Amino acid sequence: MKIGLRIDVDTYRGTRYGIANLCKTLDKQSIKASFFFSVGPDNMGRNLWRLLRPSFLRKMLRTKASSLYGWDILMRGTFWPGPVIGKKLSGIIRSVSNAGHEIGLHAWDHHGWQAHLDTMDSTAIQRHLSRGAELLTRIIGRAPTCSAVPGWKCNNRVLLEKLKFPFRYNSDCRGESIFFPLIDGKKLSQPQIPVTLPTYDELIGRKGVSNSNYNESLLSLVDREKLNVLTIHAEVEGIVCLDMFDRFINMAQSKGASFVPLGAFLSDSLTPNRAIITAKEIPGREGWVSCQSPTDAVH
Ligand SMILES: [Zn+2]
Repeated sequence: MKIGLRIDVDTYRGTRYGIANLCKTLDKQSIKASFFFSVGPDNMGRNLWRLLRPSFLRKMLRTKASSLYGWDILMRGTFWPGPVIGKKLSGIIRSVSNAGHEIGLHAWDHHGWQAHLDTMDSTAIQRHLSRGAELLTRIIGRAPTCSAVPGWKCNNRVLLEKLKFPFRYNSDCRGESIFFPLIDGKKLSQPQIPVTLPTYDELIGRKGVSNSNYNESLLSLVDREKLNVLTIHAEVEGIVCLDMFDRFINMAQSKGASFVPLGAFLSDSLTPNRAIITAKEIPGREGWVSCQSPTDAVH
């Protein structure tokens, strides 16, 4: 039973403090994973304006966001321009690549993408992807081989722009199986490896899930008959939930699971099906996310 392990790095703080912790934890078990980096300005503090929205405030209270992310993240980019992560912390990003993990592009400006994708045209999308891919290429000395949009916010324009990069696959949506996206009935060449399992902030505080039974709850969702892809965050599992994640690895391994980078699924003999990507709401998460949908779904 394989679990694809995807590590999203959204912020300066996650890169600075979470990466080293996670690499140590993974090294202990000789696990290789997929790291998706945000390399441009850290403006995550701009999320603060969302405090004005009641549903986001509820989520902040439910997940104790200030302890999860730290006030420095929540304020970052609010009153002053955020630091360019890939310039300040290039050595950390390079060390992950040198350790043999799979390296992918997450974002240039994580917050900017989440806040503005709906109004970004193809040129703006291309510019965002290019700036991120170019800086990441300079840092690790080769082009990233995969990508994953911030916040699972994707659309057909994004899928088409990504074809101009040498990505072996993209992980832009939630779903249950590896698939080739279809646009107007045409199959795109880059497969999608969707995330199948919930993230920490989606699962915690709902249906009786607390830190004391989190690992058991998450593990109960792993299905040995199906594709399993887990996303963790450098800001969360790499810092405040590090010990719990360490125990999760041991618990999963004792049940016969092994952790692999997402790209490892491509070498398995598989016949990806075809699907489209549509926007949906999912439990525990604010706003829409891209989801794998049957080709006959209503657009
Ligand atoms: Zn992210």
